[in-house]
Amino acid sequence: MNKSIYSILLLSFAIPISRPAQAQDYRKFHQDLIVVDGHNDVIYESIFKGKDIGRRLSTGHTDLPRLIEGGVDVQVFAVWSDDKKWKKGAFKHANDQIDALERMIEKNSNRIELAKTSADIHRILSKGKMVALIGVEGGNMIENSIANLEKLYDRGARYLTLTWNYNLSWATAAAIEVKTASDKGKGLSDHGREIIRKMNELGMMVDLSHGGERTFYDVLETSTKPILVSHSNAYALMPHSRNLKDEQLAALKKNGGVIGVNFYSGFLDPTYNDRVKRLYREQYGKKGDYTLSPTRQYEKLSQKRQHEANAPMSKLLEHIDYLVSKVGIDHVAIGSDYDGIESPPRELEDVSKFPLLTEALLNRGYSKEDVTKIMGANFLRILKENE
Ligand SMILES: [Zn+2]
Repeated sequence: MNKSIYSILLLSFAIPISRPAQAQDYRKFHQDLIVVDGHNDVIYESIFKGKDIGRRLSTGHTDLPRLIEGGVDVQVFAVWSDDKKWKKGAFKHANDQIDALERMIEKNSNRIELAKTSADIHRILSKGKMVALIGVEGGNMIENSIANLEKLYDRGARYLTLTWNYNLSWATAAAIEVKTASDKGKGLSDHGREIIRKMNELGMMVDLSHGGERTFYDVLETSTKPILVSHSNAYALMPHSRNLKDEQLAALKKNGGVIGVNFYSGFLDPTYNDRVKRLYREQYGKKGDYTLSPTRQYEKLSQKRQHEANAPMSKLLEHIDYLVSKVGIDHVAIGSDYDGIESPPRELEDVSKFPLLTEALLNRGYSKEDVTKIMGANFLRILKENE
């Protein structure tokens, strides 16, 4: 037999034999990892609406069966309150959501438990259960009161995202800062600095996703602890105010903080909005409503077109590569934003798909140690450093 034909034959045999072994290997590795997702909006999307996430839902991105399938060990549940609707009573709204989360946990206590410390996390995991953590997304919910901040901390909130997409009297948001040319009034007020110091003292992480650039630098100047950017990406790859510029990434690295990559196609892929518009036009033609935002247009697309509109998973990997190159392997984590986004990347359609991300990172050349850090260890480290 000709040697080259022999090697081709060998190769063609080798591929089908080695593939399943590798697939099993990454699945096993993923199961053994501590997977932490730093941001999920299922409270607002399903739990607070009375949906039972203890069973598999046909809507949304998240429920317990799919979290277990996805090998998620620690899930941060975001508490979110729209300021337009809850201008008054946002603190109560936050507490009502935590009540709803607690009821869900109580009902599923054989599978999930709330953690308030790093020690709790390891105790719960050793029982084979999933860990729930609470993150409060929006400083409006403390209603300018340090006492309310302490109450939310006591109930388990381990990070506070300072702002959502609008300004508070004590901190300004990225979405608004970018629309204002003058620096006047931007960043943290004195009360804002007091809140940061209190969070440091309590051991509550400061989350700077949604925060304005000025707010970002003011926090870094004030905080004595490493900060979290729970669900944002790289501005250099996708220029959006929700993503971090290179100078911010350099400052984050210096602070020892962590950035969790967001899975939203619109924060990953600069071609996403145009693709949505094109697909909407294709589907609706003259009957379409072209005053709708790309978000609303996406929601009206057929399932097949939605899939086509979603960013390829490679875009998420490019953001991870870029962030690692800028801040280092010890400072990148996962903050999916599932159930807070309408368009996840292709192949990562819901929380059950996390193993595919582990596989993709290994295939991209990240070592098992690197993947362990990105998928959870980095988040757990700064949680502990804030305690
Ligand atoms: Zn958010």
